Amino acid sequence: MAGPGRYEPDTTQGITRIEDLPTPIVIRKSRNYPHRACPQCGHRASRLRTVDRTLHDLGDTHSGRPRDLVVHYSQHYCGRCNGYFNANMDDLALPKSQYSHRVVSLAVRLVVEDGLPYRATSWHLWRDHRVFVPWSTIKNWVEATGEKS
Ligand SMILES: [Zn+2]
Repeated sequence: MAGPGRYEPDTTQGITRIEDLPTPIVIRKSRNYPHRACPQCGHRASRLRTVDRTLHDLGDTHSGRPRDLVVHYSQHYCGRCNGYFNANMDDLALPKSQYSHRVVSLAVRLVVEDGLPYRATSWHLWRDHRVFVPWSTIKNWVEATGEKS
């Protein structure tokens, strides 16, 4: 008798080749501006060039595909400070991070609130949220919060 609680393994279980995994859905975001105020001195700084940055976000659970945010952003040069800066995208991710805030917050909650071990958290994020995060990365995030030693 097949009841509602029938066990179905994850469709990606047993896949060993990365090209066999579902391809990500790409969502484009823009943080591209002709001018931005310099964060150091407030000077109106012109755009020097544009760059793309990929952030892994929580995936799409209906299609089972991961989701990537590709942020097209401007880099600016401040002639007064003689320095460079990027258009602000702190609402999406921490500087240099490859993951959106939503992924980091969820991973940290799974460890801190639910007490999941790092490796189990990594698998949970892939199986249920279609985002791949190495367990060592999750460990770094949790240690940075100071919630678990
Ligand atoms: Zn400046």
